[in-house]
Amino acid sequence: MPTETFEFQVEARQLLQLMIHSVYSNKDVFLRELVSNASDALDKLRLEKLRDDTLDAEVTDLHIEIDVDKEARTLTVRDNGIGMSYDEVGKLIGTIANSGTATFLKELKEAQDEAGAEGLIGQFGVGFYSGFMVADEMTLVTRRAGESQGTRWTSRGEATYTLETVDDAPQGTSVTLHLKPADPENQLHDYTSPWTIKEIVKRYSDFITWPIRMAAVAGDGDGDSAPEPETLNSMKALWARSRDEVSDDEYHELYKHISHDWREPLETIRLQAEGTFEYQSLLFIPSHAPHDLFTRDFKRGVQLYVKRVFIMDDCEALLPPYLRFVKGVVDAADLSLNVSREILQQDRHIRMMQRRLTKKVLSTVKEIKTKDADRYATFWREFGTALKEGLVTDPDNSEAILAVASFATTHDDEPTTLAQYVERMKDGQDDIYYITGESRQSIENSPHMEAFRDKGIEVLLLTDAVDEVWVDTVGEYEGKKLRSVAKGEIDLDTEGDDQADGERAKQAEEYAGLLGWMGEQLGEDIKEVRLSTRLTVSPACVVSDAHDLTPALENMYRAMGQEVPRTKRILELNADHLLVKGLNQAYKEREDRTGLVESAELLHTLAVLAEGGQPKDPARFVKLVADRLERTL
Ligand code: ADP
Repeated sequence: MPTETFEFQVEARQLLQLMIHSVYSNKDVFLRELVSNASDALDKLRLEKLRDDTLDAEVTDLHIEIDVDKEARTLTVRDNGIGMSYDEVGKLIGTIANSGTATFLKELKEAQDEAGAEGLIGQFGVGFYSGFMVADEMTLVTRRAGESQGTRWTSRGEATYTLETVDDAPQGTSVTLHLKPADPENQLHDYTSPWTIKEIVKRYSDFITWPIRMAAVAGDGDGDSAPEPETLNSMKALWARSRDEVSDDEYHELYKHISHDWREPLETIRLQAEGTFEYQSLLFIPSHAPHDLFTRDFKRGVQLYVKRVFIMDDCEALLPPYLRFVKGVVDAADLSLNVSREILQQDRHIRMMQRRLTKKVLSTVKEIKTKDADRYATFWREFGTALKEGLVTDPDNSEAILAVASFATTHDDEPTTLAQYVERMKDGQDDIYYITGESRQSIENSPHMEAFRDKGIEVLLLTDAVDEVWVDTVGEYEGKKLRSVAKGEIDLDTEGDDQADGERAKQAEEYAGLLGWMGEQLGEDIKEVRLSTRLTVSPACVVSDAHDLTPALENMYRAMGQEVPRTKRILELNADHLLVKGLNQAYKEREDRTGLVESAELLHTLAVLAEGGQPKDPARFVKLVADRLERTL
């Protein structure tokens, strides 16, 4: 097959441009990325051979090799791993798989300054392409294990790359970087120097469990004889070593290898379980939520190893979905190497592991919360929304999740825990009040809040979609009911206030006629009209019955394609409002109430609008209001 030239995908091209003109200050990490890919390729080959020993591949000396050529200014990273087929090279190297790439490039365009661009490169951790930070040309020669022909890929990092088949490619992949001209100012980063390479491997890739070899540094040998290859890394699986043997930096490099995130993790969690079902695990809480955390195809789960042998990425069975942001490794001693995802989902031991790992993550978060307010705030900002899903799906741990949860509140600008809320509750207040909605601003100004504001009663401001659900599932905290300010009847008068009770009875009598009549007129949309104890300023509001679905939940179910009957709500009137008083007066005085029907309808629509809802018939509403305005001119 002749050499063919292909164009990079648009996104890939933009990314390459960025790499070539990189402002990323720590260019050394390109080597970490290439070694990381090579290590993955060796893992994959070992596993494939274990599962199919007819595979025509050599696995007795799996390793990574680094070669430098000072004269030619090249650096080669070679592995004898799984390799890629011709089609795979085009697919994997010619395009960018990372689902965050589109977001990345969009943000990059917005981040005009270099510091912004640097942060973004780190955030998305572009792997193979990072070679272009130091090279002006890259060549990759690869042969897929089991295949006879190899493929050569070359590119100068501009608009195109070439592909051709080659006959004599060894098994695995070699990536050769044609390094940019040396920078006389910066001897430390001379990537043709074996010492520099050794340093970088030690720093970033020591934990790689495959040998990383390099021909011994000239001068170490005895002149003429070919230099013996030297293994640069200690190859010890970090999760199998005792804590005091491993530095934080080493843990962090493992995190970067696993997560493809170039930033430091927020926390490292170790767990070593002994006994009948032995396993070791090293988990990481990232410091930032990935962009696709809430998309359907987010790859969740940690890596599974069996006795140091890599088995799979994204092993979902090991952690519940609400901890999908946790990265790491679990290495189990007593699983079959042939274990499949399906088997794992049903395995009793795996379920026990999941329970234990979940508890460990939650207790670690609690520790962070107790020890370090800033780190806890970061954690909750990034992952709180995901964690709250656990309140719905994992009742066994809901207490532990509530213990680390915090919520926006009317009390002040800082989020509060439920425990703090309870401490501040007023004498005679039995329940924990909350309001749900789309944004803090819209719910803070909702009519449902008026009496609470008036009486200085704190209300939690819940604005995540999942909040609509967990408040019902959880129901109460330390014996205090969680109550929506927009649901059911609210009695904020502390007990024994006889005067208020008397006043209310009188009003009820006075308004009985109007309320009944309005209920009939608006019967198609609401189930009842009653006097409100919530309102101080607005004339009316709509509320849900204590056990009904809220409008937001109804919409959520519909968005998921579920049929739900429309729930009628309750209209509440403010008997102290002049408009309501006037309406009552008119109701009592007039024989012909046709004009009042419109007023009742308008009052209802105003209540719907005030809580951020939509009028049922916007055009009709506009016409009614316009007519009335006209009459007031
Ligand atoms: P990432 O490693 O984040 O997936 P890269 O751009 O570094 O992204 O690599 C893209 C893909 O190319 C890898 O996922 C892998 O499938 C393939 N690949 C890269 N390097 C190698 C290699 N040395 N051997 C086999 N496959 C590789």
